[in-house]
Amino acid sequence: MNTIRQEIVSLLSEGEYGAKDISKMLHISEKEVYTHIEHINRSLKPQKMRLKITPAACLTCGFKFEARNRFSSPGRCPKCKGEHIQDPKYFI
Ligand SMILES: [Zn+2]
Repeated sequence: MNTIRQEIVSLLSEGEYGAKDISKMLHISEKEVYTHIEHINRSLKPQKMRLKITPAACLTCGFKFEARNRFSSPGRCPKCKGEHIQDPKYFI
């Protein structure tokens, strides 16, 4: 578990990745990625570091999902009901 978290931390300090990218690279499910991301976010705080999130956005109308506490990808756009959503991306 720790090793995977360390790998995610090193990935995110080098670049910006979405949960799908991370799940493919580390061969874990997206659900596991979100669990790790939440733990990483908590463990970074005492070190005065922050996990930054590029919010998910609708590819049809450009609506941005700004809700900061949601790490996972929304299913559909509340504005146009489109389902082409750009996943949120994370970096440190
Ligand atoms: Zn939309």
